[in-house]
Amino acid sequence: MAYKKVFLKPGKEDSLRRFHPWVFSGALARVEGEPEEGEVVDVYTSKKEFIACGHYQIGSIAVRVLSFKQETIDADFWKRRLQVAKDLRVALGLIGNPKNNTYRLVHGEGDNLPGLIIDVYDHTAVMQAHSAGMHMDRLAIADALDAVMGDVVQHIYYKSETTLPYKADLVAIENGFLKGGSPENVAMENGLLFHVDWLKGQKTGFFVDQRENRALLERYAHGRSVLNMFCYTGGFSFYAMRGGAKLVHSVDSSAKAIDLTNENVKLNFPGDDRHQAYAEDAFKYLDRMGDQYDLIILDPPAFAKHRDALRNALRGYTKLNAKAFEKIRPGGILFTFSCSQVVSKQDFRNAVFTAAAQSGRSVRILHQLTQPGDHPVNIYHPEGEYLKGLVLYVE
Ligand code: SAH
Repeated sequence: MAYKKVFLKPGKEDSLRRFHPWVFSGALARVEGEPEEGEVVDVYTSKKEFIACGHYQIGSIAVRVLSFKQETIDADFWKRRLQVAKDLRVALGLIGNPKNNTYRLVHGEGDNLPGLIIDVYDHTAVMQAHSAGMHMDRLAIADALDAVMGDVVQHIYYKSETTLPYKADLVAIENGFLKGGSPENVAMENGLLFHVDWLKGQKTGFFVDQRENRALLERYAHGRSVLNMFCYTGGFSFYAMRGGAKLVHSVDSSAKAIDLTNENVKLNFPGDDRHQAYAEDAFKYLDRMGDQYDLIILDPPAFAKHRDALRNALRGYTKLNAKAFEKIRPGGILFTFSCSQVVSKQDFRNAVFTAAAQSGRSVRILHQLTQPGDHPVNIYHPEGEYLKGLVLYVE
């Protein structure tokens, strides 16, 4: 099928030749035929050679590449792509695993589907569009998901009200079920249960990307006093409890998050009084707390969402970590994270280094953490590596 064409300025095809999946608006010389936002367009070089096709959008990223081959983006295309995504999760041991029914099935650029996120919670898939094109194609994608996943996915919830560009002239962005519709909302991660609030919760309802890091934390929890700062739905807390922690305190500024954490702890450990949760600002809590903790998790929200906020973000990470270094018990272990895409691994490490130096304590790096395999990084799109973590031993 012939799509409308966009033409690049001379020399602007280099990144596409290296399979980077974005075309910036500044690289475009000409757009033919006034494509609508979200329409598929063919991208041509200044020498009029086809180079890619993808979703067109008005904004700094003008085209998100779907294919470097000239092909039709139809039902078969979506099925092929979702089948590849599924095969990868099968290879990772995430599908058909009796202990775990929570995983990311589609991770945007990491699965060659820029702008699309799909998380699976037991039999419900939560689908999120971050581009106009994925929004326009949502029904075709839902059909393909149905065909590829069979019985595994019985309900598809579309949750894009807050992730789509507000400027795009899109009609009918409403959260809701595209298929099925189940009130059932308990899922399992590594044998632990949790409620997923896909209707109102952040992201798709749960932070699926910390699964392996939580499992690592469990191994360190035995006999320790744990502070889970920025707990959200309490993921790290119930792993710490299963790992035999002496006590676990969960803190989040959102009262709703604290309710979710309490519910999830109760679901896994009814009547267990080792856990307490506090709705409080992180900095206030870290200032007023004592020195009882010897295992601290710091998993804050992205301090920088854009490049221009980077400096302040780094200062924020330093300040936060400095408080933990100041208070953690000798022999304590700190799990510290950054999920800001614009903060590089080295930036983050420098921020934590500065905090450690301020405390004057002896600190060793035990593990360097990142996102799990169901959040793959496309080698041609290194920006996709967003989660960074350090596990530190503080003497
Ligand atoms: N660790 C969580 C994910 C954390 S998301 C998990 O494993 O699922 C970040 C959380 O930080 C959100 O729940 C948000 O409510 C909380 N938050 C944001 N600003 C905060 C602040 N200043 N103090 C405490 N919590 C904050």
